[in-house]
Amino acid sequence: MQKTIERIAGDSEGVAYEFPVFRFGGTDKAAPSAYLQAALHAGELPGVVAIDALMPMLARAEAEGRIKGAITVVPWANPIGRAQYHFGEHQGRFNLGTRTNFNRAFPLLAAPDAKLLADVSLGGADRRLKKRVELSLGNDIVLDLHCDDEGLPYIYIHTSLWPHMADCAAAMGIDAVLLWREDSSGTFEGASIMPYQNVPASVARFDRRVATTVEYRGMLDVDSGLAASDAAGLYRLLVTRGVIQDPSVPKPSSFSGAVVPLENIEMMPSPKAGAILYDVKPGDRVNKGDRLATIVHAPGEAGGRTEVFAPQSGFILTRRSRRIIRAGEDLLKFAGDKRSADARSGTLED
Ligand SMILES: [Zn+2]
Repeated sequence: MQKTIERIAGDSEGVAYEFPVFRFGGTDKAAPSAYLQAALHAGELPGVVAIDALMPMLARAEAEGRIKGAITVVPWANPIGRAQYHFGEHQGRFNLGTRTNFNRAFPLLAAPDAKLLADVSLGGADRRLKKRVELSLGNDIVLDLHCDDEGLPYIYIHTSLWPHMADCAAAMGIDAVLLWREDSSGTFEGASIMPYQNVPASVARFDRRVATTVEYRGMLDVDSGLAASDAAGLYRLLVTRGVIQDPSVPKPSSFSGAVVPLENIEMMPSPKAGAILYDVKPGDRVNKGDRLATIVHAPGEAGGRTEVFAPQSGFILTRRSRRIIRAGEDLLKFAGDKRSADARSGTLED
């Protein structure tokens, strides 16, 4: 394993950002290569500790000569966001200087060729960081580890990779897959899969390609037991796809979780600003008309509570971790059995 340091120049003299990159060489050129990163949204740490638990497994596989395809690991993908504190609170989702989401505005290339990336030497530190997508370009397997507010473990998959990636979903042991089609905002996952949409099938090779945003539950689910089981899931995926050889790992059984088109997700914008009293938690199954939450907007007053009901049947994928809400902000990711009347294309959130 080799460790190198990526350096991102800051926007003023005397400021620079660094993050480590770990590379394991593969012994078989024909084997798929893999790229894993965590904490692109810099405060989302379940993936960071999963990688911490995975690294000794990779080191052991390397020592035993079982790493077939090259593996690149970036445990902290966003040193700019990692350093952002605003009035004592960490802010890892948006760049405070540009207001741009750290997982948006990645270049969506016409082909998977790093030479097509624009020169960003004068584009600002945020764009220089995003050009580091070149570390992942060309890998057969690209895993971007995130988490939600409070939620089940789930992953996003572009429709071109489904159902080929069902083995990966099963190997990782996640509960749900969200299938998406369009990326108009340049997510890291979009930058990883959209360049393959209009290239010859011999290059695209969707049967062996993996690109996914992994949502490892919620912000507070940073825990050594979950880290170990998530690391085991990542390891199983790498074995299943032939990056690592390990006969002790059984083939995953078929994926038994939910498969939900993105247009079925109800985001449930709150009708009022106030305090949320949830009736449901991630994993709950509900029927049309069941109460999901009550918003207390005028405490103690007649008419000061507003109830929110399920617009269709389905299950709760995520909810907010904070209980204060403004009118129009989203209460839940509710996975409906049918298309949502409020269906959103592209990304679900800012
Ligand atoms: Zn995220």
